[in-house]
Amino acid sequence: MAIREIVLIGNPVLRKKAKKIDRIIPLIKQLIDDMVATMYKAPGIGLAAPQVGVSKRVIVVDVGERLYKLINPKIVSSEGLETGTEGCLSVPGKVGEVERATNVVVKAMNTDGRYIKIEAGGFLAKCFQHEIDHLDGILYVDKATDIRDVFEEMEEELESVMYEDEIIEEESAHRMVKTFHEQDQTKAIFEL
Ligand SMILES: [Zn+2]
Repeated sequence: MAIREIVLIGNPVLRKKAKKIDRIIPLIKQLIDDMVATMYKAPGIGLAAPQVGVSKRVIVVDVGERLYKLINPKIVSSEGLETGTEGCLSVPGKVGEVERATNVVVKAMNTDGRYIKIEAGGFLAKCFQHEIDHLDGILYVDKATDIRDVFEEMEEELESVMYEDEIIEEESAHRMVKTFHEQDQTKAIFEL
């Protein structure tokens, strides 16, 4: 398994419609293994092949329940609508509010070449929709409202809390914000 480079917004591969996979040749298995390693290393909770520069219909997702490795995934039905916060490894440092279906049924091929159906709700459903969008050249920023810098937001929140407590001096507040940046704590939560 190798860690691959994650391409960023502006790279044309992220805007291409990815190609369907007809046969699971060893090269595809290698791609999937590398994508899993790259996602966990980032860290992220989902990754689509175009994000590592490969325009093929493959996604990997792990929101903490189990790892999904899906080939030619397709949403076959969906219901409900809700808005939630999303980010993307290809759009670092930003988050936005995106309206997505609450529940989806995804049909896909697994790595053994068998067709499977997954019923997903909540965060997993959102993640599938985000990743499958990547395969059609769509980024969450195309659909999002209130796109904002995640670190600026954290900094503002932290500073307002700290300034309310007059015991903490301005200088030490800045130092704490800096430490928070370095720890990069929200990344894993948001980035897909
Ligand atoms: Zn993404």
